Amino acid sequence: MLIVMQHNATQEEVKRVRETIERLGFRPVAIPGAERTAIGVIGNQGWIDDTPFQELPGIREIIHVTKPYKLVSRDFHPEDTIVRVSNQVSIGEEGGFAVIAGPCAVESPEQMTRVAEALSSLGVRVLRGGAFKPRTSPHSFQGLREEGLSILKDVKEKTGMLVVTEVMSPEHVERVAEVADILQIGARNMQNYDLLVEAGRAKKPVLLKRGLAATVDEWLSSAEYILVQGNPYVILCERGIRTYERATRNTADLSVIPLIKELSHLPVIFDPSHATGRRSLVRPMALASVMAGAHGVMIEVHPEPEKALSDSAQSLDIMEFSSLYRAIKELFEFKLSHSL
Ligand code: PEP
Ligand code: MN
Repeated sequence: MLIVMQHNATQEEVKRVRETIERLGFRPVAIPGAERTAIGVIGNQGWIDDTPFQELPGIREIIHVTKPYKLVSRDFHPEDTIVRVSNQVSIGEEGGFAVIAGPCAVESPEQMTRVAEALSSLGVRVLRGGAFKPRTSPHSFQGLREEGLSILKDVKEKTGMLVVTEVMSPEHVERVAEVADILQIGARNMQNYDLLVEAGRAKKPVLLKRGLAATVDEWLSSAEYILVQGNPYVILCERGIRTYERATRNTADLSVIPLIKELSHLPVIFDPSHATGRRSLVRPMALASVMAGAHGVMIEVHPEPEKALSDSAQSLDIMEFSSLYRAIKELFEFKLSHSL
């Protein structure tokens, strides 16, 4: 951390900053400049909480050199983390691209069986579907909850697919982990710290969606909560962020895909369904994410999108998905073979 003093800071103010650094057990190093003095803090192992400095007089700026996350950073762990969900399915390998598909919500055994059988016959190995649904309005469909989990369990047994499903509260982590192969933490819960801690204690990979208005630092700090608990298998998922633009449901921030790969060793996938909210935009954005270097995509697919109980406008039908799936595979092969 670097503390830059104001140009007219007094000796007394500089002294108080130095004393505060020492009181915290670190060493102050003065870096005198022509205009103003900066004080470097050394001796710290990781990120320093700057609260004790915030109200001190004479300080112009506090610059953090170390990030508030360490375990998720590439500096700390240079090799890519590969999340092995099963013997056949890994997420995060440079030579592989994961496709996760399924409806927004589990609605009935028939709906799930239909979609799972269709997806499985195309070659999709990971099925999505929410049993616990975080909905903006309490009057909207809230998910089948426990019944939804049993449907997912039956469909898994029938098709052999792996399942990713959302967990909304810490007390449900154990129960959801009995059925899920990957625990999803949704955008609205990205900063539910008790939930992150509990997911960190689970023995299942975690798909951590970016919060509705979360910065990259906040998102990676949330992932750090999971890693700190001893679970290194986190898959980050960009799902669009809230901006002033209302023409799309969210603003798809594809630039974070290569950025996250620079900052972190964790796999990063893209959700073009929530990122756009519009069926017609899912295909071009999914393909763009392949070229941006994503390790996979998660796409909402419903056997009859017009009847979907949630996220109908952004769900693809099986035909649309099947054509997109082929295009994703072809594009990814092209990218690999041309080293793009
Ligand atoms: C979902 O995946 O259906 C979902 C609720 O997504 P998000 O948390 O990104 O809004
Ligand atoms: Mn959804």
